[in-house]
Amino acid sequence: MKRKILEAVNFIVKNNLVKGTWGNVSLKYGELIYITPSGVPYNVLKEEDVSVVKIDGTHVSGLKPSSELPTHLEIYNSREDVNAIVHTHPVFSTTVSLITSYIPPLVEDAVMILGPKINVAEYALPGTNKLAQNVVRALGNNHAVILKNHGLITVGSDLNEALTASLVCEKTAEIFLYALNIGNFNVINDKDASILRNKYLNSYRQIRKDVR
Ligand code: 13P
Ligand code: ZN
Repeated sequence: MKRKILEAVNFIVKNNLVKGTWGNVSLKYGELIYITPSGVPYNVLKEEDVSVVKIDGTHVSGLKPSSELPTHLEIYNSREDVNAIVHTHPVFSTTVSLITSYIPPLVEDAVMILGPKINVAEYALPGTNKLAQNVVRALGNNHAVILKNHGLITVGSDLNEALTASLVCEKTAEIFLYALNIGNFNVINDKDASILRNKYLNSYRQIRKDVR
């Protein structure tokens, strides 16, 4: 689990989804949550630094957990299907958070893996229970939620799905901004968006129960 957290951290750094120490990654395994420590530069992070907490938030081992632990716990407690959470501060998704309350169904991959409509959660200070509540409400049954004036959270049944969702959301936010700049644009209608999303959840993705 700890090695997977470090691999995920390398992935979000390499893909330019974070700068400095911001962002965080967690994995659920049984009753334990493995989460990046708060405020530690990613390039010096070691396996033993990864924070382990119980699902009720009790600290088990490692450094002080991410300040966004309340949001991670709130998501795990409200979504049985989620075993991995990735929080980043990418440029395009964050730009979208400044100008709109959702991204409509624009492109197929986004509608499939993220959900028909990607909501922007209302602003609350980072690390607060209020932010956790706003995030869970705006996430709904989707795999992505954008945080107003802040960044992005994606979830997955495993880490790979949550990381892919981050890339797809950031790509879609970039497309959305291009389309807004050019003018009128087409969206996928609600019926087709719902078909695409259900296809992804029920047959397209193949969940490996042994993989986190
Ligand atoms: P941590 O360094 O505490 O994980 O927090 C960074 C962040 O992105 C807060 O929203
Ligand atoms: Zn953040």
